Amino acid sequence: TNQFSEPMKQLTNIMNTIQSIVASTERIFEVLDEAEMLDVSTDQPAIETTDKFTFENVRFGYAGQEDLMTDFNLSVKPGQMVAIVGPTGAGKSTIINLLERFYDVRGGSIKLEGEDIRNIDRDDLRRRFAMVLQDTWLFNGTIFDNIKYGAHEEVSDEDVYRASKMAHADEFIRTLPEGYNTILNEDASNISQGQRQLLTIARAFITDPEILILDEATSSVDTRTEVLIQRAMRRLLEGRTSFVVAHRLSTIRDADNIIVMNKGDIIETGTHDELMALGEFYAGLYNSQFTEAS
Ligand code: ADP
Repeated sequence: TNQFSEPMKQLTNIMNTIQSIVASTERIFEVLDEAEMLDVSTDQPAIETTDKFTFENVRFGYAGQEDLMTDFNLSVKPGQMVAIVGPTGAGKSTIINLLERFYDVRGGSIKLEGEDIRNIDRDDLRRRFAMVLQDTWLFNGTIFDNIKYGAHEEVSDEDVYRASKMAHADEFIRTLPEGYNTILNEDASNISQGQRQLLTIARAFITDPEILILDEATSSVDTRTEVLIQRAMRRLLEGRTSFVVAHRLSTIRDADNIIVMNKGDIIETGTHDELMALGEFYAGLYNSQFTEAS
């Protein structure tokens, strides 16, 4: 077949998608306008109802230990990307543990859309999340099954390939002699770390979660794969609320809100530009740690 026909078809699909997105966005704004008009009498402050997550006076410590957090407050809007940075032991993973209720708070509360997460069944809660870039979640099985495993409902083979393409994983998978039937060994060491990360992104696409947790690996990935990961991540993050335990400079720069933690507390918060202007902890970290990386 003509080598241009496939890209042209894709382009047409993309154009159609864009058109329908524009059309539905217009409809959304019409509905929002109406909703706003109807909403004038409500005395609820808008900010209260629009939080995706609210940490309110959270107190927490691990069993048998003193409080790590004494009064932790954070508000996350729907679709926001929150980057969490700070030294080892600062409490970055603890935030993730609390969000998914691997542990419960000792005091205060964490709310998801206004509801205390302690009132949400753990499995139901966790189904709303996908964990990305953590390749320890891959298992000994085919690449195909590893991607498919993310889905909460029946998905077709086509869905698996589509998710894989969205994640830019399809390209490398097709170069493997066994393609999608390649069996990952116990620690998936028969593919590279970057490729493992692309698989976790593909799995997230098929899960189609509301909330993403990105736990970035510190170890390096080759430049080409790094570019693919960045592209796939940007696409995946669109319209989803996300928490990123961040190491990559590019990810942090994209964040709507960066929280800098130390000893369980937020010591600085703001966008990259705001924190650079502040010229304190984050700016110092950036200058020392990231100068070469950028
Ligand atoms: P970070 O992710 O920023 O490196 P963590 O959230 O993992 O930090 O750790 C914060 C503190 O809590 C550290 O002092 C760590 O030793 C402790 N900690 C983390 N996980 C556990 C656990 N499962 N049990 C007991 N203490 C823990």
